[in-house]
Amino acid sequence: MTPREFAERVREQADIVRIISDYVALRKRGSNYLALCPFHQERTPSFAVHPVKQIFKCFGCGIGGDVFKFIMQIEGCSWWEAVRLVAEKMGIPIPSLASREGAEAHAAWRHRLLQITAWACEFFERCLYEPRGDVARAYLAARGVRPETIRRFRLGYAPESWTALTEYLLGRRVTREELERSGLVIRREDGSGYYDRFRHRLIFPIRDLQGRIVGFGGRALGSEEPKYLNSPETALYAKGRHLFGLFEAREAIRRAGYAVLVEGYFDWLTLFEHGIEHSVATLGTALTEEQVRLLRRYTERIVINFDADAAGRRAMVRNLEPALRGGLDVALLRLPEGDDPDSFVRRMGAEAYRERLSAATPYLDFLLDEALADVPLPPPPSAQARVLRVILPYVAGIPDAVERTASADRVADRLGMDAQVVREEVRRYRRALSGHSPSSPDGGGTPASGSSEQSGGRLPLVASSAREREGSPSHRVGTPEVTPSERLLLEILLHADASVRACVLAEMDPDDVRDLASERVFALVRELDPTQVSYTILAERLADDPFSLDLVERALVADVSGTSDELLDRARRSLRGLRRRRLERELVALQMEIERLRPDENDRLVRLLQRKQAVAAALVKNQM
Ligand SMILES: [Zn+2]
Repeated sequence: MTPREFAERVREQADIVRIISDYVALRKRGSNYLALCPFHQERTPSFAVHPVKQIFKCFGCGIGGDVFKFIMQIEGCSWWEAVRLVAEKMGIPIPSLASREGAEAHAAWRHRLLQITAWACEFFERCLYEPRGDVARAYLAARGVRPETIRRFRLGYAPESWTALTEYLLGRRVTREELERSGLVIRREDGSGYYDRFRHRLIFPIRDLQGRIVGFGGRALGSEEPKYLNSPETALYAKGRHLFGLFEAREAIRRAGYAVLVEGYFDWLTLFEHGIEHSVATLGTALTEEQVRLLRRYTERIVINFDADAAGRRAMVRNLEPALRGGLDVALLRLPEGDDPDSFVRRMGAEAYRERLSAATPYLDFLLDEALADVPLPPPPSAQARVLRVILPYVAGIPDAVERTASADRVADRLGMDAQVVREEVRRYRRALSGHSPSSPDGGGTPASGSSEQSGGRLPLVASSAREREGSPSHRVGTPEVTPSERLLLEILLHADASVRACVLAEMDPDDVRDLASERVFALVRELDPTQVSYTILAERLADDPFSLDLVERALVADVSGTSDELLDRARRSLRGLRRRRLERELVALQMEIERLRPDENDRLVRLLQRKQAVAAALVKNQM
């Protein structure tokens, strides 16, 4: 057993209410227990413990987490000490030398898993060249991937069968338990056997930095959903801990002085084939802190280049935040509408792509371009305020003072505003952020220091919720507001059972939560398997984002009760509320745009009116 697995067991058996009541006097209220917070001075209780969700949260100072986090904070001890202490309190025997034995067992399993993964890779690769791989080879040929590239990166094919790989590995004397742990096969829910995770998919081996194959990505060749499927978390592979192609690209990245970040396998393959070898692929998810750290071993600069459509541009902006927070210098490359790196390089050639790369837009200008896209020049005051609100967190997050001021001036210039005003807004934003930061959510046991100098480059790009409650007008710029509908929807999503959750998610349009303060949390919940949404997983995935984690903690200690039907009903009402808000805003924006049109802009007027009609119709439909 690894320390982690042991901790998991302790967490399952421990009762957070009992543990915490050893330290503070808890009183039951609703579904929660309340107390005066032991971590800050207060007269009325704002410290809540949720017995079902097994987390605590202080609405005063913002601190929150699981039972281990509480013990770490109150005892001032390490995570492992906290695990042992809770185990003792619960009378759970601590395996002797759990950590060392655990580590040895873990290492042995990793070793074995590498072998199993290597066998699977051989199997997939062989299938590609057999008659049953015809369809996969035809697909690769149609996309123009050269045979030598296919060999070099060991692409493969997972046959259209439920048991092909299972049988192959059983033949290699892999046990059923190992099969299941490897993530390559899945146990049937009724316990009647196993089936292959990857079926009728093109297989891309994913390598670690030593070049070992640690997992696979599979692209559907038929109508299978999802289109892209990756290995699940195993002892070797974790989503967000690897970057596709980094092993192959490392040297080229060092030589070039920067990395190109693309979205898909084919973008990456095509660039590589055309001699642009310093690229890596994110595989569809937003960059994680760990991936940024990986990249930083080789470079301090990246150029992000995703699809040239609206979704691609949004994805680029999503990746911008973690990259900046990790201290990378970022530029963004916009391709002609309708292109992606793959199609562009094939159409225009490597030289044209290199030229585009060298002319990539610095991120600040990219954000300004995006925000000013439909704004007349010079921007009217309402647009100035709106754009500033979007840009401010980025500028305020720049660790270097000189660079920060230069960026503020650049923003002022583009917006036609007075430089002093923008500089002052940046200062105010930073002061507000650093003055009220809640305790560290990273589980590292050290409360976050409030000083902005110490947080340096890691200044969060979104404001902490402590400020949100405060609501002083002078702090309003740049503060994300969380609406009651958002809160309610999130509470239901996190409290309801998996079937309600799946139902709500199916009815939710990503547009409904776009640009909301809670957007990232909703995106994460949507991404997870509905049966897997737990505080532990959410906290892990949001470790780099105190604001979002805070939202999750608040939602988890909320009082949510009702039958499935009632919850679903409430969720739908919130969704309608969010949708209405979005549509109404769009309507206002459209109207403003129409009023600003010059008399000769007739085409644009027609387009805007059409759009306005569509939005109005959607609003009516939404109210029904
Ligand atoms: Zn507190």
